[in-house]
Amino acid sequence: MRLLSWILPVWLIWTSLGLAEELSRELFGTTSDDRTVDMYTLKNKHGMTIRLMTRGATLVAVEVPDRDGRFADVVLGFDDPADYESKKNQYFGCTTGRVANRIAHGRFSLDGTDYRLSTNNDTNHLHGGSTRSLDKVIWEATAFNRDGDHGVMFRYHSPDGEEHYPGNLAISVSYTLNDDNEIRIDYAAETDRRTPVNLTNHTYFNLAGAGEKTVNDHVLTVKSDFYTPVDDTLIPTGEILAVTNTPLDFRQPTKIGERLDLLINTPTKGYDHNFVLAKSSPGELAVAAILRDPSSGRTLTTSTTAPGVQFYGGNFLSGQLGKQGKAYASRSACCLETQHFPDSVNHPHFPSTLLEPSQTYRHTCIYAFSVGP
Ligand code: BGC
Repeated sequence: MRLLSWILPVWLIWTSLGLAEELSRELFGTTSDDRTVDMYTLKNKHGMTIRLMTRGATLVAVEVPDRDGRFADVVLGFDDPADYESKKNQYFGCTTGRVANRIAHGRFSLDGTDYRLSTNNDTNHLHGGSTRSLDKVIWEATAFNRDGDHGVMFRYHSPDGEEHYPGNLAISVSYTLNDDNEIRIDYAAETDRRTPVNLTNHTYFNLAGAGEKTVNDHVLTVKSDFYTPVDDTLIPTGEILAVTNTPLDFRQPTKIGERLDLLINTPTKGYDHNFVLAKSSPGELAVAAILRDPSSGRTLTTSTTAPGVQFYGGNFLSGQLGKQGKAYASRSACCLETQHFPDSVNHPHFPSTLLEPSQTYRHTCIYAFSVGP
């Protein structure tokens, strides 16, 4: 990362219980086509710090204490924009869309028109496309303070036809850090034509610290009785099956590595599944998953209004060097992507991802950090 080159008037600092809360903005660097990438740093009264950049409205760093008060950065990322633009970047920390996860063969039909999106994952469309997906564009950012909590609102206008999706889409993603060590992500979008929308965040977590060897000893709970099985190209078959007696039963806290062997030789090569979340009503903000690292005591509780969560075990991480030169080995981090089910636009019985011009798309995800035994 380039050193602080300028600090803007948004910089705020005050003292509370002897600890400084901060919000600052600095230049992170420039892209290969000379666009400026800004980085925002937010710190709460406990010293928890997060960093956000304008490329991809991306979460770059999350520094949280362990049970002894020692801080570590628990998310994967890079030290400069060039690495984020390179092949090493497997959607680290970004906002993912317009439609997160896969659309079969990049095809869907809407109102009598057949749409053909790019196919950037074998024969399928993944995470919004190849060149102008939401992780690759520069977002406008505005810092805010709401009731004492610092936040950054990112906005992006995706023009009609971008990545071949219909409709002009006005998108906002706001991140707020509060004094309960929670990162709240609120998504909103509006369109002028019917279009599919499924936004999520693709942060990779290792609660022992980014660059530690594996998350297989992390203990996971997922509030889900059902999952959406996939075919050989990771497209849902359309079935909704019970997790009972499968390696996907995380209703009780279970080590990620405990049943991994049963999945290694399947098309997902490990965990890479959409779980159907148990909700008392659609859109309810409820706990989706709890991830705990017994070695540090750090615990991440993920809550969401979305109907599903993709638990991706980092199977395709390849040892690339990330922040401070640390290597990110296969399965050394995992993602909990709160979302609509993959390929929903081609499965009418899944909760709909279609946004009408009269509606506002909304989705909230909270990543809450705590420590335990
Ligand atoms: C998908 C994986 C994919 C990864 C890309 C995840 O959301 O579920 O299949 O390989 O993103 O980084």
